[in-house]
Amino acid sequence: MLSKSRYVRGMNCKKSLWLYKHKKEEQKFSEATMAIFKHGTDVGEFAQQYCPNGKMAVLEDYPGYASAERTKKFIEQGVETIYEATFIYDNTLVAVDILHKEKGKWKLYEVKSTNSTKEAHILDVAIQYYVVTGCGVELEDAGVLHFNREYVRRGELEVEKLFKFTGLKEKVLTLQNEIKENIPLLLKTLQGEEPAIEMGLHCEKPYTCDFTDYCRQLLPEEIKEEIRILSSEPEIAEYEVRDYVSIIKYPIGFLDFETINPGIPMFDESRPYQKIPFQYSIHFMNSENDEPKHYQYLAPSCPNTDPRIGLIENMIKDLENSKTIFVYNIAFEKGCINDLIRDFPQYEYDLTVIKEKLVDLIIPFRRKYYRTETMQGSSSLKKVLPALCPELSYSELDIGDGLTAGNEFFGLYFCDKEEIKKKTREDLLKYCHLDTLAMVRIFEVLKQV
Ligand code: SF4
Repeated sequence: MLSKSRYVRGMNCKKSLWLYKHKKEEQKFSEATMAIFKHGTDVGEFAQQYCPNGKMAVLEDYPGYASAERTKKFIEQGVETIYEATFIYDNTLVAVDILHKEKGKWKLYEVKSTNSTKEAHILDVAIQYYVVTGCGVELEDAGVLHFNREYVRRGELEVEKLFKFTGLKEKVLTLQNEIKENIPLLLKTLQGEEPAIEMGLHCEKPYTCDFTDYCRQLLPEEIKEEIRILSSEPEIAEYEVRDYVSIIKYPIGFLDFETINPGIPMFDESRPYQKIPFQYSIHFMNSENDEPKHYQYLAPSCPNTDPRIGLIENMIKDLENSKTIFVYNIAFEKGCINDLIRDFPQYEYDLTVIKEKLVDLIIPFRRKYYRTETMQGSSSLKKVLPALCPELSYSELDIGDGLTAGNEFFGLYFCDKEEIKKKTREDLLKYCHLDTLAMVRIFEVLKQV
């Protein structure tokens, strides 16, 4: 039997569908994907409040025949809101996030933890529409319930304003014949041999495939050789690097933020998926030969305390005397500071001063003034650092990237084990410290050109 997710998977890549059934042990999820799944489940449950007081059809671990029977009974009994409403038609099972009756007509809601409807959502809704209407339930509309990006939390969450429904009925109607033809083809794929499909763009879009590791192993040796990391002498545009360094004025602060971006706003004056800085690290050098001093801030993970206030006040103090503030990839820090100015106008003057001193340390690498093959054409800090300062490495750290840092801090809000909290906070401090120490060392290398 197919399901909504199997159908969507199979339409993207038949091999992925086949592997999902026959070699599930090869499926690998990154930490980021796991966090997205967890967040999606939490949002799905929360969104049920948009149509409250419904009945839950799935009482087992997974939707199946029992939940389909329950759904049928609920409809016969006149229940008007059903969560995980399950339907089986044409060898395909779907569980609708919310099926809700308004003015005597059914509406299908697919909950997505995004700020808008994406192209990939249309197929999700279309296959559900096909199965539900195939079971004889007429749908007035079918679409996506997603976050409303305009919503600003002030006080208690207002669920009806936090979410927004985008109807997709017209679009999904155009796909119904196609779905009817595709279902038998996908079922045939499941019964056959492993399809021979080469890797390509479809492995990354619309989602990174969870069988990427498996398929990569099957690549011929000569292709693997091409992507092996090479090391070589740097190519340096000396004049441009010196020009860049010459405009930098001491004292210098090296600044890095870590952020969380919860879909459901946690604090007043925040929006769905807004980046909320909770931590910074600053290395500070008064003069050229000065040993850098280190300052840091890590907010308490207390649900009633907005991490931004303490961060702003400490950051203003720690950067007070700087003339240059280095960041790596300015758009991120500048965007965070602009949001802080908008949400906390009482700090506008000091934050604007900080913003005007920002200088992007990525520039020499993005403009390829300084490059080595080890960087593999990338200017990201994680590629530039090992090329310029191989003695510094993220590999020894338990938290080694910004996404993990945000997820780990977010997890602290729900953690009551003191030893885990303590260890996570130590790991966060080590990670953010390395980010700004890396910038100090990279700048030293540039100065030597
Ligand atoms: S990695 Fe690519 S080719 Fe392999 S199963 Fe996934 S989508 Fe298909």
